[in-house]
Amino acid sequence: MTKSVKVDVIVVGGGPAGVASVRTLTAGGARVALIEKTRFPRSKPCAGGLSAGAVRLLDYDFTTVVREKVNELRLSYKDKKPVIIKAEEPIALMTKRAEFDSLGIEAALSTECQYFVLPEISGIELRRDAVELIYPGLRIKGNYLVAADGAGSTIRRLISGRPKGAFGVAIEADVDANEVNTQEIRTKVDFGFSPGGYGWVFPKGDHYNVGLYSWNSRHSRFVNRPALKQYAQISLGEVNLSD
Ligand SMILES: Cc1cc2nc3c(=O)[nH]c(=O)nc-3n(C[C@H](O)[C@H](O)[C@H](O)COP(=O)(O)OP(=O)(O)OC[C@H]3O[C@@H](n4cnc5c(N)ncnc54)[C@H](O)[C@@H]3O)c2cc1C
Repeated sequence: MTKSVKVDVIVVGGGPAGVASVRTLTAGGARVALIEKTRFPRSKPCAGGLSAGAVRLLDYDFTTVVREKVNELRLSYKDKKPVIIKAEEPIALMTKRAEFDSLGIEAALSTECQYFVLPEISGIELRRDAVELIYPGLRIKGNYLVAADGAGSTIRRLISGRPKGAFGVAIEADVDANEVNTQEIRTKVDFGFSPGGYGWVFPKGDHYNVGLYSWNSRHSRFVNRPALKQYAQISLGEVNLSD
């Protein structure tokens, strides 16, 4: 038998956008269903830096997952002179993304929302005043739908056809801070190190997070383990990368 659930708003995706949606909507009195396809903690390629602007938007206590506060940032583009940003107040707060997201989902679940961990959606029915998401043995109906299911959104694909454009590619690893002996600025983003992307080094207290990104998976041959090893060496010296 197929179970049926009816809410005001369905939010698909429990990342930062979904969590913010759930908290804002439930605070306004809406009945909300949050649907996520993975169990937390889950990993996602991300440098985990919270900008001052992002911090201002967070309405729950996240201080327990802050590993370092950053007051100095070096930005470079290929062989151009780097830009150094310094400030009295932190420019960014460094977190590990898996920890930040687990805290986020807890913050969403502390509201009155109904939470569903479900396999991939089977179908979607759009009507003038309602939307219905179909899962094996379950239909969830809402007046509104928030597609917070990330850059490769399945919801967007189901509603509007395949997303056009390329998918990004990223690789990251951690380096034990005890292995690093550098006088360089500890937080940096090197635009252009990967074609159509950047490399980053973000300090996280007992380790550094180092990574490479390109907006187009066509460049994946430049965003791989040997390239990351090379970037880590240039940035931090002879260091070992975590798996
Ligand atoms: C390499 C890299 C480094 C980055 N570094 C930073 C940084 O340092 N600071 C920063 O602010 N941003 C950073 N970003 C950007 C940041 O990761 C994104 O902006 C952010 O994750 C977007 O949040 P979101 O909630 O929209 O999506 P996501 O975080 O992608 O969350 C989407 C959620 O939806 C779920 N989901 C997906 N499909 C379905 C489905 N069909 N049904 C149910 N659930 C589904 C996923 O499991 C996931 O939990 C980085 C991005 C990359 C690629």
